[in-house]
Amino acid sequence: MKPSSRTPAGSDKPRPSFPARLDSGVTKAAEGFVGLAVKKPYAKSDNSPKSINSSVPVGWGLDSSAVRAAMVRKLAGAGLSHPAVLKAMGEVERHRFVDSALVNQAYEDTSLPIGLGQTISKPNVVARMLELLVHNQALPMGRVLEIGTGCGYQAAVLARLCREVYTIERLKGLHDKARDLLRPLRVPNLHLLFGDGMLGFAEGAPYAGIIAAAGGEAVPRAWIEQLSVGGRLVAPASMGASGQSLVVIDRTPTGLVQQVLEPVQFVPLKSGIA
Ligand code: SAH
Repeated sequence: MKPSSRTPAGSDKPRPSFPARLDSGVTKAAEGFVGLAVKKPYAKSDNSPKSINSSVPVGWGLDSSAVRAAMVRKLAGAGLSHPAVLKAMGEVERHRFVDSALVNQAYEDTSLPIGLGQTISKPNVVARMLELLVHNQALPMGRVLEIGTGCGYQAAVLARLCREVYTIERLKGLHDKARDLLRPLRVPNLHLLFGDGMLGFAEGAPYAGIIAAAGGEAVPRAWIEQLSVGGRLVAPASMGASGQSLVVIDRTPTGLVQQVLEPVQFVPLKSGIA
């Protein structure tokens, strides 16, 4: 099938109704569901730090668009080129997702701690994975599943590229943190789930895209099963002795096509919830 003739997968299937029940091993999706129905996500007026993260120093809201534009120029200089991805990265306020002590580093190309031993990926890596995910897809993509919500930053960027985003986190503390950080941004097409993402989220399948922010020994079978024909999975995985690499799997009408790309360093994919 030619890429141009693809139907955005998942877009014609009705959204699962919520509160949803997750399969065994996945709990309390209903509690984690954040239906943030509003008209203007990321409205300009939302720039004021006081509306979301009181720990962000006053003044950042006014200045951050220039700093973000500089970040995007650096991403472009590093070879990232997808206009929609760069635009989305230029719009989502990364400084809102990091602790106050780290705000000054929010737009540097560095990963940052987000609590509970986890990290927000550096902008280059987020942009690279998103470019791989949306490659050859008509935008906005259909329904996408993210494994590893973390602080919610990447999910917020994804929501600007997809019709519907389901993001799942296994650590309750981070799930709650992401919900709190995202609530004021009012992103109507972003749904937060608390559960074990190794099982995917069958209720929302099939997905046009699946993207993981944590890497295991292999890509879980459930993710591949929940990918639509024409859909693409982007995930870190440890491929033998060579360590963790970025893996892309396309589900084509004739089968799965896997590419193993550059080495990466993501936090481990773990099973169960905590
Ligand atoms: N995209 C995130 C990055 C978070 S780091 C952001 O923008 O902040 C990766 C996250 O994956 C961690 O929060 C970790 O708890 C989570 N994770 C690891 N294994 C998981 C699993 N089986 N299901 C869901 N989340 C998982």
